[in-house]
Amino acid sequence: MNLIFATNNQHKVDEIRAVLPPDFHLKTLKEAGIDIDIPEPHDTLQDNAREKAATIFQRTGTSCFSEDTGLEVFSLNGEPGVKSARYAGDDKDFQQNIDKLLLNLQGKEDRSARFRTVVCLILDGEEHFFEGICTGRIIEEQRGSGGFGYDPVFIPDGATKTFAEMSTDEKNRFSHRRKAVDQLVAFFSQQANKQ
Ligand code: IMP
Repeated sequence: MNLIFATNNQHKVDEIRAVLPPDFHLKTLKEAGIDIDIPEPHDTLQDNAREKAATIFQRTGTSCFSEDTGLEVFSLNGEPGVKSARYAGDDKDFQQNIDKLLLNLQGKEDRSARFRTVVCLILDGEEHFFEGICTGRIIEEQRGSGGFGYDPVFIPDGATKTFAEMSTDEKNRFSHRRKAVDQLVAFFSQQANKQ
């Protein structure tokens, strides 16, 4: 199976490559020779994921998938959610986003949160969606230097380390993104069994 993964985020590529079966051949945008920053203008993860996949499908005619992920913090009414990348501004600065999150959580007892990933696959022109959720909590001070985004302040349920203190394989044991990709892989297995 040859698929383009519509992202410029190398961390996401590494995480997904680590869990895909060997018969999946993933091309990043860079590897497909596509140099664009795909906009994420919508109010839902689903619409943003669709926009990214549709943009690449229209350009290449090749089956492709994209994903959009948000961190949803319960005591902040689901924020930063779909605005996770630009929480502190259009620079998409990971550190500024974390600083704003920790500031907004000051004094809040409930620090529970979840990552939610929506994958949009466009296969032979048809759209399919898959979702993965990882619940956990936001700690008060960041820990670890791996990963990206909010990883240094998020501990998934059932773990004692932040995502930023874990290897890619450890993160994938818990991760929202892995759960969504598992469904994508299961979908392809079902399609193959039908043939
Ligand atoms: P995107 O729009 O899907 O690229 O993700 C939005 C933002 O959410 C990113 O810029 C990161 O700050 C954050 N994010 C997405 N996935 C993860 C993750 O697995 N760990 C930590 N932060 C993430």
